[in-house]
Amino acid sequence: MSESASKRILMVEDEEDIAFLIRYMLERHGFVVDHAADGRQALEYFAQGEPPDLTLMDIMLPYHDGLELIERLRAQPGWDSVPVLMLTAKAREVDIVRALELGADDYVTKPFQPEELLARIRRLLRGRR
Ligand code: CA
Repeated sequence: MSESASKRILMVEDEEDIAFLIRYMLERHGFVVDHAADGRQALEYFAQGEPPDLTLMDIMLPYHDGLELIERLRAQPGWDSVPVLMLTAKAREVDIVRALELGADDYVTKPFQPEELLARIRRLLRGRR
């Protein structure tokens, strides 16, 4: 578990059940989890927070959707190299393509297996320069 020690993950997710599940799993593996529950909270976090080690980004969100947020995130000073892993519904391939174009690094489709999410997070964290 040492590879995840003190790694900070920003989770942008409005669905409480999913947010609870992800937080539970990540904290159990030693990650620190910051949660933004809608688009406004995410923008506040971008503006005020230190860049996290990785961002989990839901697409369908109140106020500002995940696509807009990815674009805004990439424009923040110091955030250009933060890995972004999208959480998306299976049917929304248009969103996946657009998000990758805007600077997302990878995606997981809902409903996801916790082990798959964890594996993709670890792969992105290993790839950081
Ligand atoms: Ca959502």
